[in-house]
Amino acid sequence: MKCPKCGSEHISQERRIDGDATCWECFYIGKPKEFYRKTNFDVIVENPEVLAEGMVSSNNRMWEFRWHNIAVIRMKSREAAVAAAIEYLKQEAEQ
Ligand SMILES: [Zn+2]
Repeated sequence: MKCPKCGSEHISQERRIDGDATCWECFYIGKPKEFYRKTNFDVIVENPEVLAEGMVSSNNRMWEFRWHNIAVIRMKSREAAVAAAIEYLKQEAEQ
């Protein structure tokens, strides 16, 4: 379980069915399913390939990978753009 607000794993849950879960770091209270939802960060770490594939698009005969609305990678082939995007995402995830 992970807090959807601050990402802490220091969570307590009420001992009843569908009881609320509470984060001990930021005191966010919510339903347990919220605490199981994956964050963008988790998706990047687990599936940089899938994310890169979905984020590369063609523009003006070049293949672009945009991050925070900036084209950080521009390549002539889609394969090269995806490969570069995967490396970029892995580095982002490590920061
Ligand atoms: Zn929290």
